Amino acid sequence: MTTAPTRYEQLVTHPVGKKLAKQLGLPIPPRLSRRDDRPRAVLDPVLVLGDSDGADLIATQLLDWEADVRRRHAELQRVGSIIILLDALEHPRDMSPAVLAAAEALKKLAPGGRIVTVSRTPSATSGALAAEAARGGVEGLVRSLGHEMRGGATVNGIRVADGVSLTAPSVLHALRFLLSARSAFVNGQLLDVAAPGPASPMGERALDGLTLCVTGAARGIGAAISRTLAADGARVIAVDMMGQGVELSRLATEINAVPVIADVTSAHAGEAIADAARAKGHGLDGIVHNAGITRDKMFANMTPDRWDSVIAVNIGAQISLTESLRASGATSDAFRHVGIASTSGIAGNRGQTNYAASKAGVITYVDSLAHELASEGGTANAVAPGFIETDMTAKIPPLRREFARRMNSLRQGGQPQDVAEAVAFLLAPAAGGIHGQTLRVCGQNLVGR
Ligand code: NAD
Repeated sequence: MTTAPTRYEQLVTHPVGKKLAKQLGLPIPPRLSRRDDRPRAVLDPVLVLGDSDGADLIATQLLDWEADVRRRHAELQRVGSIIILLDALEHPRDMSPAVLAAAEALKKLAPGGRIVTVSRTPSATSGALAAEAARGGVEGLVRSLGHEMRGGATVNGIRVADGVSLTAPSVLHALRFLLSARSAFVNGQLLDVAAPGPASPMGERALDGLTLCVTGAARGIGAAISRTLAADGARVIAVDMMGQGVELSRLATEINAVPVIADVTSAHAGEAIADAARAKGHGLDGIVHNAGITRDKMFANMTPDRWDSVIAVNIGAQISLTESLRASGATSDAFRHVGIASTSGIAGNRGQTNYAASKAGVITYVDSLAHELASEGGTANAVAPGFIETDMTAKIPPLRREFARRMNSLRQGGQPQDVAEAVAFLLAPAAGGIHGQTLRVCGQNLVGR
């Protein structure tokens, strides 16, 4: 479900308004395609650039996905996606051939097209200094090119740890996600794949048979996450506060979820969720800590109530719930923890010291928890939304809100669905080799990394 275009968007996409906006140099947001507009994973034709063995492996894999794969663009009028293989770099100069071929093809990239780089993860301890400089350089390429994309096209990168095959399940799962319309609001980001991950279904039914809990599920991003997980095959346990009971039960009926009324900061919330999973006769396979609040105030006017409540809901409950669920014995092996963070936790934001402290905590917590869960086959990751159109951002004063929407490379606010897609991607068994990551869903905010 996408929200209606804002008044500004209606104005600058109208033929007369568009002309005026162009003359004045105002941002004109492109229309983004999402999964319903473009259900196929790959936008054809796909140009696979690079002469490494990895390039051949990826091209063969794309043929298996029935994509129209090309290794040269000269004969093409239009290119749907470009994959740049940079997996065998020994020196920064080795980037040239594939990167410059991509630059030549860029003008042919279709609206909503995709560019994905595939390279190796930098490692400070390898001792191969020039190779590490080259690996690190890919980040600069991706982040800068993200700012240059037009027409809703995006560029993102996958970095694969040494020793992990480019056709390992987690690499291919990441590639499918970044090539597809599911990553519409992800731009200029790099995803690290640390381990191969288990061979498991990708795409539409990737969550088949899983039992997953979503907190703050009654509305906004939480409701979109619940709907997306259910659409991808999961049984959902949907948690929200007493005051949201009507919306929660409506959602539960719609997607056949189990509603649980609980305040995530209460001592009994973990028990209530564990009981709901047991009642369904299944172990809990994962949790999405989405419940969150803002209590913005300039720091000089910060009150104990504003500070403590934000810390308690946004990070305290994520820690205590995951701990109590793991201790309850109600969780399955390979437990998945996804924390919802925020770009405010990365770049900071005026008036949001409490919120940014809580969300920066989420990012660090998943990194630490990932090490602990990895030995059991589980993962912990975070998703950091930028400006997303929900009740939370509707509270921002109109002018500031309008400005915040345009502060990213895609020149618009994201939809709750965009965050939900990233969460579903990380919860899929095939994402088992991705952990400790914070995936930003922000249209590439102009602030922060
Ligand atoms: P929202 O205010 O629309 O919805 C939040 C939901 O969480 C509500 O249903 C609310 O009842 C529930 N909730 C709050 N406190 C709770 C508690 N103690 N126990 C149980 N449920 C509780 O917010 P949203 O915009 O959908 O945001 C969802 C998450 O995404 C939050 O963690 C938020 O910080 C994060 N986020 C949102 C944006 C954005 O632009 N909207 C940006 C970055 C991060």
